[in-house]
Amino acid sequence: MGEKKLVAIRIDNNLCVGSGMCISAHPDKFAFQSDGHALYVAKVLDEVAAREAEELCPVSAISMVFEDGEPS
Ligand code: SF4
Repeated sequence: MGEKKLVAIRIDNNLCVGSGMCISAHPDKFAFQSDGHALYVAKVLDEVAAREAEELCPVSAISMVFEDGEPS
């Protein structure tokens, strides 16, 4: 564990309630889409920011995908 490459930061639109917690914590990494759901917008995948946002999200909509395909 720990050395796997992060390949994606996902937000499940079916779960996201648009609380904006992820955006408040990392406004340079997350943004609202026009439909009111959040999206990870930074070009570089920031695992620390993603993990923080994952913990803050009230509905657990944020997840990380690692190289071997295992969910975080
Ligand atoms: S914290 Fe979760 S529910 Fe709130 S906007 Fe971000 S992804 Fe959506």
